[in-house]
Amino acid sequence: MNHPSSAAAEPAATGRTTVITNIASLVTNDPSLGEGPLGLLQDAAVVFDGDRVAWVGPTSKAPATDNRVDAEGRAGLPGFVDSHSHLVFGGDRTAEFNARMSGRAYSAGGIRTTVAATRAASDEDLHANVAKYLAEALRQGTTTMETKSGYGLNVEDEARALRIAAAHTDEVTFLGAHIVSPDYADDPAGYVDLVTGPMLDACAPHARWIDVFCEQGAFDGDQARAILTAGKARGLHPRVHANQLHHGPGVQIAVELDAASADHCTHLDAADIDALANSSTVATLLPGAEFSTRARWPDARPLLDAGATVALSTDCNPGSSFTSSMPFCIALAVRDMKMTPDEAVWSATAGGAAALRRTDIGRLTPGTRADLTLLDAPSHVHLAYRPGVPLVSRVWRRGVCA
Ligand SMILES: [Zn+2]
Repeated sequence: MNHPSSAAAEPAATGRTTVITNIASLVTNDPSLGEGPLGLLQDAAVVFDGDRVAWVGPTSKAPATDNRVDAEGRAGLPGFVDSHSHLVFGGDRTAEFNARMSGRAYSAGGIRTTVAATRAASDEDLHANVAKYLAEALRQGTTTMETKSGYGLNVEDEARALRIAAAHTDEVTFLGAHIVSPDYADDPAGYVDLVTGPMLDACAPHARWIDVFCEQGAFDGDQARAILTAGKARGLHPRVHANQLHHGPGVQIAVELDAASADHCTHLDAADIDALANSSTVATLLPGAEFSTRARWPDARPLLDAGATVALSTDCNPGSSFTSSMPFCIALAVRDMKMTPDEAVWSATAGGAAALRRTDIGRLTPGTRADLTLLDAPSHVHLAYRPGVPLVSRVWRRGVCA
């Protein structure tokens, strides 16, 4: 099966050089190349050699190349790195959203609706759905997107979800521990045994990461630790849905197990902030979830002030955050989570890369992947200054203009 808009099937540019000139303001995220943490350059140019960045500097000094593109004064930045999404799903939760916006509280139980629809969906429908939302994200400037299983919740459907995800992206996460499977409603311990045993055996070959929803109504601290430890023993690296709906042990377990990321981080105490700031675990904030559930905003300020690494991501999923838009998340983070525009743009690019433990994406410096987004605006600040406006003008992914 061919999936033309997918990551794995998309060709990388080879053998030809391209220069993009007259970039009014370029975010490189390399402080050695320009001003501040964003490594900001004015009137910049970028050279791609195939699928890699070969050169970054002033337009006046740009070398000769095979192709030349004039950015005509647009702003440029690295392609967004969306390190948290749930794209392998069937069905739709419009009715639940509508009910919630009419006054009913969100609970983790709505996931069961999507589990039933995902199990009933064909492989072709699931492939088409993943490709559709990756293409939608790409049009909004996202050039790397992690995605998870978690709507199968039995051995066969979890492994199927991961096989499908892996056809579209390299960043695949096993989330058999999303909620206790409805098949084990009366036997949560039995479900943990399944996740850490036969399900892990079937899923580990198709994933890079293992994740668990550590939350009241999902998995407690001991269960989360057991699941993540079993995954580590099979070569998967942990990431954790932590402290989303209540304060709990998720962040501390993430740090203890050297998880790449603790995701959500809405309900933190001082010890959680200190633990994150003194670890290599990234705090990934997902403002689409708070927006779509009318929940309390995470506060990025104490995390940033303590020195934690903060990423922004969409959490794109049909239940609690059905947006694929990183620009929307940047605008929310600036408006409601006390991030500066510079911090939010860094967190949506270099921060996402850190949450995936990648150094080849999220930056524009010689040797990194040729992933560049141009905006119909003179500055990256416009991503927050002009919320809801489709500013993304052109996107290059692996040196190919999408
Ligand atoms: Zn999630």
